[in-house]
Amino acid sequence: MSNTMFPINHALNGGDDCPTECGDWLSDVGAEIHANKLRHGWKVTTSEDWEDQHEIPAVLALIHSEVSEALEAFRKNDRANFEEELADIGIRLIGLSHGMGIDLKTAIFEKVRRNRVREYRHGGKRV
Ligand SMILES: [Mg+2]
Repeated sequence: MSNTMFPINHALNGGDDCPTECGDWLSDVGAEIHANKLRHGWKVTTSEDWEDQHEIPAVLALIHSEVSEALEAFRKNDRANFEEELADIGIRLIGLSHGMGIDLKTAIFEKVRRNRVREYRHGGKRV
């Protein structure tokens, strides 16, 4: 089968970008997250926030709070809430990336490619 049948593999194997069949759903979701935040009166992250000493750390803390909520859902054996909190993590991450103009899809593809060639259990850590 050709790589165009599996656009993610195409991109992970060094293709310049996801073929058109792949679409850019991540960018579309980012735009929706951005628009929804504005509709509800929330601050949206922008590239200019990089120069602010507090804005990006605050957004990262909010992502962390969603991770903690996922941990609590796991501790309570609440799978439905766990899934919701994972979605919250993704929404905050995608919203941050979108607002800052970061191409998260490409960044993830590049990191997955780098991870593929790392040594077995690199770093000597337990987990
Ligand atoms: Mg949450």
